[in-house]
Amino acid sequence: MSGLVRLSLAMPAAFTLIAASTGLALSSDLSGGGSPDAAKASFTYSGALIQGGWVRGEVPAGTVSAKLGTQVLEFDQSGKFFAAFDRDAESQTTLRAELAGGSTTEAPLKIAPRAWNIEHINVARRPGGASEAFMERRRPELAAIGAARARETGAQGWRQDFVWPVKGRLSGRFGSQRVYRGEPGSYHSGMDITTGTSGSPFVAPADGVVVLAATSPFSLEGNLLIIDHGQGLNSAFLHASKLAVKEGEAVKRGQYIGNIGMTGRATGPHLHWSIKWRDARLDPLLFVSPPT
Ligand SMILES: [Zn+2]
Repeated sequence: MSGLVRLSLAMPAAFTLIAASTGLALSSDLSGGGSPDAAKASFTYSGALIQGGWVRGEVPAGTVSAKLGTQVLEFDQSGKFFAAFDRDAESQTTLRAELAGGSTTEAPLKIAPRAWNIEHINVARRPGGASEAFMERRRPELAAIGAARARETGAQGWRQDFVWPVKGRLSGRFGSQRVYRGEPGSYHSGMDITTGTSGSPFVAPADGVVVLAATSPFSLEGNLLIIDHGQGLNSAFLHASKLAVKEGEAVKRGQYIGNIGMTGRATGPHLHWSIKWRDARLDPLLFVSPPT
């Protein structure tokens, strides 16, 4: 329970209320539900309708194509889909389905804002950009990351509830940001988990396919591992001391995939876990049960 309370501090009251009243944090049904018959005529969905959150659902019967806002939504043969909301997502968006016969069905979604941890610092942002020498090394790394995240493997992990890759102290939250004399730095793109030591094993949070397993450390990410969970959803794990899987390998939720370390740019051993759906950066904390 203390974990839920701690988590709730970062959440708006309405969201917390729903999570608390069902006892199913982050997976309560926010759709307005309805009878099974109603479900066939309209969108049904549940999830974390909040910045950095996600939704899983089913398109109406007879849907030919569907969209979330302006993005085309993929759905499987039974109409199931996954979608998510960027850290800076607008407060409203719409699910829209084109039905056989030409009619359309819409479901407006309200995306709750987050109170991100913004730290104002009276120090100038470090001047200048990266050196040309650094960029020469960096460009192919960024290309490899982009290519890996764009791969479609048909993985099915997007259907699952995620598990913690490792239990430990949260030493860095998703979305937190420093502002240097009015000039915002980039926000923290993942969640940091530390066990206080190097070498702790970590596991896959959901089923997937390894789309990138660094064979030598990347300049910032160190030994980087990226797992595709399907439907445009993927996880990245940074700074590992060791990776236990190879590119192309299918992994199961809970399977050992590597060991925590501090390779790349890290001040101490920790696992940086980030999640993306297409271009949207998501909060891993909204995918797992509250920390205990
Ligand atoms: Zn981090």
